[in-house]
Amino acid sequence: ATPTALLVGTGRGAQLGILIRGPEVLEASRGVDTVVLDKTGTVTTGAMQLAAMHSARSWDESEDDDAELLRLAGALEAASAHPIARAVTNAARESLGSTSGTLPEVIDFQSHQGYGVSGEVLGRDVLVGRRELLRQRRIEIPAEVEPMLATSESQGSTPVLVAVDGRFAGVLIVSDTVKETSADAAARLAAMGLRTVLLTGDSAGAARRVAAEVGIEEVIAEALPQDKVAAVAKLQEQGRSVVMVGDGVNDAAALAQADLGIAMGTGTDVAIDAAGITLMRGDLRSVVDAIALSRRTLRVIR
Ligand code: ADP
Ligand code: MG
Repeated sequence: ATPTALLVGTGRGAQLGILIRGPEVLEASRGVDTVVLDKTGTVTTGAMQLAAMHSARSWDESEDDDAELLRLAGALEAASAHPIARAVTNAARESLGSTSGTLPEVIDFQSHQGYGVSGEVLGRDVLVGRRELLRQRRIEIPAEVEPMLATSESQGSTPVLVAVDGRFAGVLIVSDTVKETSADAAARLAAMGLRTVLLTGDSAGAARRVAAEVGIEEVIAEALPQDKVAAVAKLQEQGRSVVMVGDGVNDAAALAQADLGIAMGTGTDVAIDAAGITLMRGDLRSVVDAIALSRRTLRVIR
């Protein structure tokens, strides 16, 4: 291999907004045949919005249950950097009348990677996250809530459950939008002969809806951070050479495991540190450019 060609490839990448950690990264991308894409923040904008809210009226005698639910959840989520957290906190601040910083303080904040968050707000134990987070603490989810959860998931939205003082308190439904360029990028990856897989911690329903919209062939959903690494390793065991594309803390291990890890520059530092390539633009078409560039560069060498 001529180091010069690799350096030229690296330099060309920089011009395209594709930051390649070192020349050896281009070598690592030889023979890749599968592109695994994280959903939130990678295929979608990650700019989530609160779409609806349903409070359980039984848990408090407060006059305005919805506002109280949003205040407690919003205060707790203010300590989290997750896209879901931003949606909830923004909505809570808006409902307070735009004066930021008026949300109550959080004590004992804990982030449960891939599940949600917990902490104490206004003397109450608050839990915000997916079903399993409540189940782990033996908090009963009323049966009448299930159809609403299923409906929002089938529409591609993410229901976020809230518990207060050990009791189910309500559901916040957040939704995300697919990036305009994602479908085009997926089609181009397929045209290059690459198999595409959507990998997410979100529900199977929401994941399938997004995969269908974008044209991604396969779906692996409800994956915890350790499941994401395992999913990449499993594809590799099956003889596939994997590119992993992600942006979150929960993607870092999978980015490191993959034959080639590509981080969105809009993502967290942990993801960027674990990846061989960082994309300056939050556009999946840069993944197509990065793979095409490495193929061209390696062709010059061989
Ligand atoms: P993704 O793979 O889509 O980036 P994550 O692994 O970050 O998803 O999260 C998986 C699921 O865990 C989310 O869909 C959500 O239900 C729940 N979750 C994670 N973090 C939070 C949070 N800060 N607030 C509420 N729910 C959360
Ligand atoms: Mg993500």
